[in-house]
Amino acid sequence: GRVLGIESTCDETAAAVVEADASGRGYILSNAILSQIAQHAAYGGVVPELAARAHVEVIDHIVARALNEAGLKLADIDAVAAAAGPGLIGGVIVGLTTAKALALVTGKPFIAINHLEAHALTPRLTDNVDFPYLLLLVSGGHTQLVAVRGVGDYVRLGSTIDDAIGEAFDKTAKMLGLPYPGGPEVEKQALKGDGDRFALPRPLKGRAAPDFSLSGLKTAVRIEGERVSPLSATDIADLCASFQAAIVDIIIDRTRAGLRAFEGVAGRPNALVVAGGVAANGAIRAALHQLATETGIKLVTPPPALCTDNGAMIAWAGLERLRLGVTDDLSAPARARWPLDSVKADLPADPTFAPT
Ligand code: ATP
Ligand code: FE
Ligand code: MG
Repeated sequence: GRVLGIESTCDETAAAVVEADASGRGYILSNAILSQIAQHAAYGGVVPELAARAHVEVIDHIVARALNEAGLKLADIDAVAAAAGPGLIGGVIVGLTTAKALALVTGKPFIAINHLEAHALTPRLTDNVDFPYLLLLVSGGHTQLVAVRGVGDYVRLGSTIDDAIGEAFDKTAKMLGLPYPGGPEVEKQALKGDGDRFALPRPLKGRAAPDFSLSGLKTAVRIEGERVSPLSATDIADLCASFQAAIVDIIIDRTRAGLRAFEGVAGRPNALVVAGGVAANGAIRAALHQLATETGIKLVTPPPALCTDNGAMIAWAGLERLRLGVTDDLSAPARARWPLDSVKADLPADPTFAPT
């Protein structure tokens, strides 16, 4: 089957067509995306009202581009999927309404996708990973460890009790006068700096529950910055390196706790999967590779373009659900909040649809 997927929960408007063959392997036929980063950069973060307007202005164009690039017409699509949340509600409504309208006029099934579920299932598109696996989701809005046991079967093992890791990168960059988005800038500075110069905290390190806390680290960076102010180029590089070293330490310690918690709910994972924009960070990737080698668990990192928000992940999640016979009503609501572990795949009673 072929599914058109639409994403508009944050600051990218995206649409893609993904096809699955008889064996269930997925192929990306197109993946159109328009980022609003430039429109929000002046504000140092995403402005919800600006985002919603920008989605309205380009959504038709992006859907048309996804179909054109795939060389397909609407009639060639088997179902239309859209992210129904969680996210900025104004933007979610734009993509969701567009998908419902397309499903209505074509008479094709509609599928409402949880944005986090789409991140969670992406490694099955890029790397054919089997359930169960441990997902480390690290983005601008989310930081969680999730046991992925099947489609619609997610156990959130832990999550951040304050800031997301990407958010901590962005706020640190802002404090040091670096441009938005801060992650790549902090990483660049860190390469030139001394990660041992500033002693920064590792909140929750050593705790059994695989949760994260970043706000104490952020505050420590601010206090150290004020202490050595005015900041020289070396100070900025050293602060970035020390911050990134703390983040790497936190991620590895929390992921170890996640692996232990995983055993209790799903046994041994087939893989450790990393998704979200922060997964683009070289130091974090290197440390996770080392952890994977040490534990003998395969590390899967989808390519950065599929780690950050995109349409292909929504289309793929749609295909996974379509294969199980799970589709949605056109009344499916847009949701600002929608925790991953509340997502279910309501399998139809017809046993021919039973997952294999
Ligand atoms: P979400 O996916 O949670 O809805 P989002 O759109 O903010 O939110 P992504 O697009 O996945 O998330 O990722 C963006 C985040 O990733 C930003 O916070 C950015 O600073 C961070 N990031 C990007 N590249 C890097 C990097 N090289 N190192 C660290 N962080 C990075
Ligand atoms: Fe996302
Ligand atoms: Mg984004």
